[in-house]
Amino acid sequence: MDHKPRLLYVEDESDIASIVAEVLADDYEIDVASTGEEGLRLALGRRYDVMVIDRRLPGMSGVDLLEAVRTARITTPALMLTALGAVDDKVSGLDAGADDYLVKPFDFAELRARLRALRRGRGPGDRREIGDWVFTPASQALYSPAAGRITLTPAETELLELLTSSPEHVFTRDEIIASVFPGGSGATVDTYVHYIRRKSTPEIIETVRARGYRAGTPR
Ligand code: CA
Repeated sequence: MDHKPRLLYVEDESDIASIVAEVLADDYEIDVASTGEEGLRLALGRRYDVMVIDRRLPGMSGVDLLEAVRTARITTPALMLTALGAVDDKVSGLDAGADDYLVKPFDFAELRARLRALRRGRGPGDRREIGDWVFTPASQALYSPAAGRITLTPAETELLELLTSSPEHVFTRDEIIASVFPGGSGATVDTYVHYIRRKSTPEIIETVRARGYRAGTPR
């Protein structure tokens, strides 16, 4: 039987809540709470694999909620949603025990990528060599002596993480879609390959004709 991970989503804006819940329903079994108090009750009452918490809620705020959850020694990874440009919101959210944050309005592909990364629990010591380049998934960075440090988006990081997880393997577009872009298309894959190459070097990812992509051997 297919067992989806459980996600707790706390959001007071019902329009956003229903859209996001629908987007995530393919990947997760979701409980939506519209207040911090309800979110806390759910978080204390059952086990979740990941939590998405809006920072600004009426009554108990997302920060208060997360503090209460962490005080209860619940370590479930949490992503906090913050308002555009509210740097203080981001800082207080991370202080309260959020593992990541995302600024509203956000891209759904980005949200899904962040959630998968959170659940995967990337280790900070994970370093992968791609030719002369070094890729560190936890810091979403690519480095080469010539180009310096390049920052990748979560989705780009996840794609490169997949390719470097098995450097000899040629990943088909379908394999990449299934692992990184559920619900996406071959064009999505091609687009992200293009983004990564444009930021770094074309050789960072090798195109294997009529088959797919694999990690390259750039210099
Ligand atoms: Ca809100």
